[in-house]
Amino acid sequence: MEKNIAAEKLKKRRNETFDPRPTRCAVCGGTVLYGKMTDFGITPFQSGYCYICSDCGRYVATHQNKPKEAHGIPGTSEERKLRKKCHDLFDKMYSSFSERDHMYYKLSKELNIDKEDCHFGYMQKEDLLAAIKVLERWENNGK
Ligand SMILES: [Zn+2]
Repeated sequence: MEKNIAAEKLKKRRNETFDPRPTRCAVCGGTVLYGKMTDFGITPFQSGYCYICSDCGRYVATHQNKPKEAHGIPGTSEERKLRKKCHDLFDKMYSSFSERDHMYYKLSKELNIDKEDCHFGYMQKEDLLAAIKVLERWENNGK
């Protein structure tokens, strides 16, 4: 039951589901562990620390300067690749902080989600694929 509630909650409001120090997997409800990536067989990047779900294996890296703070909601390897693709597309389209902010706003409208939820690190596969479509359209036709 708990697992379904977590999934429902995630669907409704992603940012409420985001916990920078998670103990439960927001997607499957499993126990989340914190530790060195190398201890979980992951090639280290960023801080070298991560939060990883002991059930589904989703994981997320933590901030370089705040190694206890997760970058987002733990994701599958596919989701992590899609998040990277989103960032690669998104990050080359703005040149200032305010422009970036405006782009997140526009993207949230396109995806029909709250702006506070509009961070690639919070998104699961479905939203990430939709975001890539929007970003590729912006790239080809202008924002
Ligand atoms: Zn999980």
